[in-house]
Amino acid sequence: MSFTTLGLSDPILKAVAEEGYTTPTPIQLQAIPAVMAGKDVMAAAQTGTGKTAAFTLPILDKLSKRGSVQANQVRALILTPTRELAAQIAESVDTYGKHLRLRSTVVFGGVNINPQMMKLRKGVDILVATPGRLLDLYRQNAVNFRQVEVLVLDEADRMLDMGFIHDIRKILALLPKNRQNLMFSATFSEDIRNLAKGMVNNPVEISVTPRNTAVELVEHWICPADKKQKTPLLIHLIKENNWSQALVFTRTKHGANKLTRSLEQSGINAAAIHGNKSQGARTKALADFKKGTVRFLIATDIAARGLDIDLLPQVVNFDLPNVPEDYVHRIGRTGRAGASGQAISLVSADEFQQLSDIERLLKQILTRKFIDGFEPTHDLPESNLDRRPFIPKKPNPQNRPNLGHRDGQRSRTSSHGSKPKWSQSKAKAKR
Ligand code: AMP
Repeated sequence: MSFTTLGLSDPILKAVAEEGYTTPTPIQLQAIPAVMAGKDVMAAAQTGTGKTAAFTLPILDKLSKRGSVQANQVRALILTPTRELAAQIAESVDTYGKHLRLRSTVVFGGVNINPQMMKLRKGVDILVATPGRLLDLYRQNAVNFRQVEVLVLDEADRMLDMGFIHDIRKILALLPKNRQNLMFSATFSEDIRNLAKGMVNNPVEISVTPRNTAVELVEHWICPADKKQKTPLLIHLIKENNWSQALVFTRTKHGANKLTRSLEQSGINAAAIHGNKSQGARTKALADFKKGTVRFLIATDIAARGLDIDLLPQVVNFDLPNVPEDYVHRIGRTGRAGASGQAISLVSADEFQQLSDIERLLKQILTRKFIDGFEPTHDLPESNLDRRPFIPKKPNPQNRPNLGHRDGQRSRTSSHGSKPKWSQSKAKAKR
């Protein structure tokens, strides 16, 4: 099956061919005809499945065929949780729409609002936005939603995790009732379905498995280690295996900064990316990593979620995530586009509960490898696979990020990046 059979216009097919895409991915095959037919869509799809093109291509097609945008208006609104994702989607819109005469822009917080207001003045056909900044712009009369024909809610599950539900509901209330709605989410929990009820009409439901799942393309194993030994162990692994590049996850922003400093002190070129970094620093770190001038990118979960970094051979979990699903998201960064990858987790004895939760979700016990000279003195207990079905935990609204940290911070961390008390006591109780 090729792109030409989907009914997209020639300028779009040309842009797609220039990107080197020959075959639509499963989500594109299902979503593109549905969106072109004007249907609402609810799609369970993660980053890496080609979902951005799945909604962007038919939207471009639709908008280019008729109508024009008026001052301060928007015709297609794409909402996404993080600044990096917003920038990435906007880049895709530009790429796929480069042979069309449509206007698009991206708005997110953390940067000066004035240039964004200027860009919105003439109106844009496609606006990619994070919710908080979009509402700020609306309140300042920089944008109006009267002309919105299509709404995309991307990474809806993460939006709820990050506490954006109220902003989303406010935005929904401002949009014209008669519009097309596309909702993309990695998972469809009860909360997402509740949100969907008020948003989509008789949707086409699509579910695709990621092109690379934890269990398929990525070779992943754990390395038991004492907490204090994790930094020297990582440095040893980098040097011993001559790793050229890796994305390294830490649980907290403080941990990311500390590890970055230690690597740099050992002559290993690294940069941190997390919600406390300025937008400029985040964009630069990501661009340098993509160019290869930064070899090790040290990231917290939200900052890294959805980042499309091609051909990443190596992911390291310096800390295990608190939320088991994040393990799958993290290691999904490697082995993209069919290439095989490797993911290693450094696990200390106090992370046994997180390890057990991940193994329960994956329905497999992860292989353990010990590294000579780094055998832990605090033993990691033996895994005993819990075969009860995995039930995702609901995010606790009490732990919603505060307004100063709407982006880039885990919903279950405090503003200092530490684990909230409830989850520590809960973890203890389980042990
Ligand atoms: P996404 O899931 O939207 O983040 O896309 C993941 C990656 O797949 C991006 O690097 C896209 O450029 C790429 N991609 C999207 N569609 C295709 C396709 N049909 N063929 C090859 N690569 C694609």
